[in-house]
Amino acid sequence: MPSQPKDLNDLFHETLKDIYFAEKQILRALPKMAHKANGEQLAQAFEQHRTETEGQIERLEKVFEMIGKNPRGKTCDAIMGIIDESKEVMEDFANSDALDAGILAAAQAVEHYEISRYGTLIAWAEQLGLSDAVPLLEETLAEERRTDVLLSKLALASINVKAAA
Ligand code: FE
Ligand code: FE
Ligand code: FE
Repeated sequence: MPSQPKDLNDLFHETLKDIYFAEKQILRALPKMAHKANGEQLAQAFEQHRTETEGQIERLEKVFEMIGKNPRGKTCDAIMGIIDESKEVMEDFANSDALDAGILAAAQAVEHYEISRYGTLIAWAEQLGLSDAVPLLEETLAEERRTDVLLSKLALASINVKAAA
């Protein structure tokens, strides 16, 4: 059988697999980050986002279903790298006043990766006429954005100040 040239449908499916893999890695990383964080509010933010992440994975599974594919991840080197960097900062700054600022920045790098992915998936879903997928992806994008804003607030209100003390 001659192979069909790849199109936007394939790109959408590949990117869905990428973020599905990433969300599963994030689900495992967030409790570790919560455990290492000294600040109660930061730990709480990570715990809350871990719960949200469970729902995000379920939404992705629904989107796979909508395009008639089995939910399957594909290794995302970008999220592996970002998570590796978070581990590095947690080790290198373990006994430092700057630890929380470092973990928070690593978490924001995760959120920014996700915001980029979901933004792209929404644009492609719209283009492909996957109108049922759009609101699901938008719901998740809103959670990622809210998390990013909350982290910025925590950083500016206290965590960066403590780190500089
Ligand atoms: Fe997420
Ligand atoms: Fe990726
Ligand atoms: Fe997130």
